[in-house]
Amino acid sequence: MIEEISAGLYRIEIPLRNSPLKALNSYVVKGGERTLVIDTGWNREECLNAMHAGLTTLGVNLRNTDFFITHMHSDHLGLLPALRTDASSAYLSRADADRFNSGIPIDEFAQFARLNGFPEDELEATLRSHAGFRFRAKQRMDFQTLKEGDILRVGDYQFTCVETPGHSWGHMCLYEPHRRILVAGDHILGDISPNIQLWSDEWNPLKAYLSSLDKVSGLDFELVLPGHRGLLRNAQERIRELKRHHQERLEEITRILKMGGMNAFEIGARMTWDIVYDSWDTFPISQKWFAIGEVLAHLRYLDEEGIIQKQTQDQIRIYSLTRK
Ligand SMILES: [Zn+2]
Repeated sequence: MIEEISAGLYRIEIPLRNSPLKALNSYVVKGGERTLVIDTGWNREECLNAMHAGLTTLGVNLRNTDFFITHMHSDHLGLLPALRTDASSAYLSRADADRFNSGIPIDEFAQFARLNGFPEDELEATLRSHAGFRFRAKQRMDFQTLKEGDILRVGDYQFTCVETPGHSWGHMCLYEPHRRILVAGDHILGDISPNIQLWSDEWNPLKAYLSSLDKVSGLDFELVLPGHRGLLRNAQERIRELKRHHQERLEEITRILKMGGMNAFEIGARMTWDIVYDSWDTFPISQKWFAIGEVLAHLRYLDEEGIIQKQTQDQIRIYSLTRK
């Protein structure tokens, strides 16, 4: 499916089978000499076929095409090696380029998950069957790294890079001030909330995400091009909603911890989740993984705010409210 969004700017829908995201939006900006493709899809055949069909319809020659990747997740970056030629530039933030090239630290994720009460018997299978792992780009790659304020020109479009860490370390949006367009990647989505996860003690992604939301809300745009689902027009309201959503999550966890100290997996089991399964026990394990990653991001935030504390008992991390 191809849609022209504004002159020379198109969306190709790349299917993500069996994912609740349903599809990835790849944006194609046709300039005179060069074309820019923004985000690509998973490294799997049906994504490649959809991309090839779209680019052929648009008359795009891959030898004249460069790529901008909003962040390193496999649904955005996975297909890049199958598309780029030796005449292509591939742009990504430094933080995500480094993370991508150091490989997925499965053992570290597993250790952190174990520490947080994730059941041992399901852990390895969960990680290996994760779509982001199965459909990732499998080789190291050279990128041209971009930072805040850098400019990408394609035809009449002049995009400014806006660093928006949170959904990933180096997530980056593109802002076109003259056309008042924000290419948002997974920083702002419409009917689903971007997944903010934590699987190490290295950073506070929720804090980063909330300040990245404040940052883009200060820009003047009218159209948001998200990485998944439909385009957004009333984005300031959506930004407020996303901030409220996380505030409510923080309050829910605080309420749950009034029952006493517990680990992240036990907290996740007591939270309300906006998905189709009847109960936590019937969640597929892959969904539990996303859910616990979210819980951990919120716990880290509450910990840094001094609202909760953590201690380790029998190799499991237990969170509890701090006494004030
Ligand atoms: Zn995505």
